[in-house]
Amino acid sequence: MNKMEKQTFAVIGLGRFGGSVCQTLADAGQEVLAIDKAEARVNDYKDIATQAVVADAQDEDVLRSLGIRNFDHVIIAIGEDIQASILVTLMVKEQGVKYVTAKAQNGYHAKVLEKLGVDRVVHPERDMGVRIGRSLTSKNMIDYLDLDSNFKMAEILITNPKFFGRSLAELDFRDKYKLNVIAIAHSKSEMNLPAADDVLGPRDSILVAGPKDAIDQFEDLMN
Ligand code: ADP
Repeated sequence: MNKMEKQTFAVIGLGRFGGSVCQTLADAGQEVLAIDKAEARVNDYKDIATQAVVADAQDEDVLRSLGIRNFDHVIIAIGEDIQASILVTLMVKEQGVKYVTAKAQNGYHAKVLEKLGVDRVVHPERDMGVRIGRSLTSKNMIDYLDLDSNFKMAEILITNPKFFGRSLAELDFRDKYKLNVIAIAHSKSEMNLPAADDVLGPRDSILVAGPKDAIDQFEDLMN
């Protein structure tokens, strides 16, 4: 993680999501400008962010005076106020920021943000809901992550005896199941990088990445 080059970030909106992004970036030693129109929120981040300012980001002059266009990455984390989120996104894009991440409240909001050219639209509540829901509804799915609309990552418990005692090379995941094995955990221990001669056993789980259908089909084999 620490290999990432130092970049400059601005986080607009310090609710639960924006605040958590701000804290994580600061912990990683990145330069972060934290902006919120609510003074109390800004006070919470004044010792965490590189700079924390009380400002209404809907004001174009404010964005300009903060030099928003000079930041490498701007995160728009305005939650409830969809209109403000859209307006701020429009202005941030117009000012030519290279990379913009914005939080969507719902599907319509996401569509508008995409149309405005947002580089990455995130739906934290929905994504976390899917992640938890998948792991609750399938007994062998330990975790599930949406990487793209059709590309997912999942940790799956190996319960089908057909897989026991066979090596990853022999099982040929890439060709047979259209999946990449990213990590393997033997007997519920920690995840490790997989090796071709790693042999699967009854309490092992594997972390795989691949198209949604491939993950679903593989998971079905475990039920
Ligand atoms: P979350 O669901 O992530 O907690 P919230 O909607 O509670 O999101 O928080 C969004 C934050 O964005 C709030 O702290 C709010 O004060 C801030 N905010 C909303 N509109 C603006 C704006 N125009 N300029 C700056 N900050 C804003």
